[in-house]
Amino acid sequence: MTSHPTPPPTAPRIAVFGSANMDLVAYVPTAPRLGETVTGSAFRTVPGGKGANQAVAAARAGGAVTMIGAVGADAFGPQLRTSLAESGVDTSGLRTCDEASGIAHIVVDGQGSNSIIVVPGANGTVTGLSAGDEQRLAATDLLLLQLEIPLPGVLAAARAARAHGVRVVLTPAPAQPLPAEILAATDLLVPNEHEAAALTGRSDPAEAAAELLTTVPEVVVTLGAAGSLYATRGAEPVYVPARKVTAEDTTAAGDTFVGALAVAAGEGRTMPAALAWASAASALSVQRRGASAAMPHREEIDASTA
Ligand code: ADP
Repeated sequence: MTSHPTPPPTAPRIAVFGSANMDLVAYVPTAPRLGETVTGSAFRTVPGGKGANQAVAAARAGGAVTMIGAVGADAFGPQLRTSLAESGVDTSGLRTCDEASGIAHIVVDGQGSNSIIVVPGANGTVTGLSAGDEQRLAATDLLLLQLEIPLPGVLAAARAARAHGVRVVLTPAPAQPLPAEILAATDLLVPNEHEAAALTGRSDPAEAAAELLTTVPEVVVTLGAAGSLYATRGAEPVYVPARKVTAEDTTAAGDTFVGALAVAAGEGRTMPAALAWASAASALSVQRRGASAAMPHREEIDASTA
């Protein structure tokens, strides 16, 4: 079990309302066609889901993190819970429900290309907040949202956070059309360049950000190896370069970035400084294989920015 320090009382309090999945990854020389059976070379079960990944990233970066969502009453449920707890995430808001745990069934072929089936299962039941969830949310400084749970759940959480003065940070992934009410309840939107283009129809990230600023007060567009861009109303956008590193596996780079960004912003750093710190965190993660397993702890992020 990975050890993690207890966050200090001054640690930013962060709630994540979202998905937890077990990723079931089969490695094959050539992906099977319809009706075909192939023999794979390896199989792994890896805890994932954008919500859980962001929770792990934020906890390792030094946040006091509580995860709100649902897992199934199956073998994966306790494994998903334990994996979060091992990184220091409070899982008392993670319900166990009658649906199967969410899974992502992933086939990776010899070229490294993949095909994925996501079955939301328990995540599909996260359509609103219980009284306990709302109390947990009210006791935090910042809420992290993504789009792997039903949109009514996302909207309910954003509105509840707003009502309690909690800053709402939304990662609009997987890309999909967003109801205007959700954007209206968002304080900081963090799309990658593809999601920003999907939301606005504009491929230029600065233009996409400018358009998004008509509904959201602050936008960060992540640009992979090209870095990230911070935009706020009435100011020129600020580009923050990515670190020059050799990327081994960029899975969950964005989730690592958002988790670290939430901690840095919650600590009161300026947004450009928070983006730089988040870039350092995600640069560390892309140099290692795996999603949450590759996410750095705070000491490592600090050491790399010293
Ligand atoms: P997503 O994983 O959501 O698609 P990005 O690919 O934009 O998100 O990556 C998020 C952040 O991770 C980037 O803004 C950058 O700071 C960092 N990052 C991603 N890929 C690399 C890379 N190859 N080298 C260095 N940093 C990277």
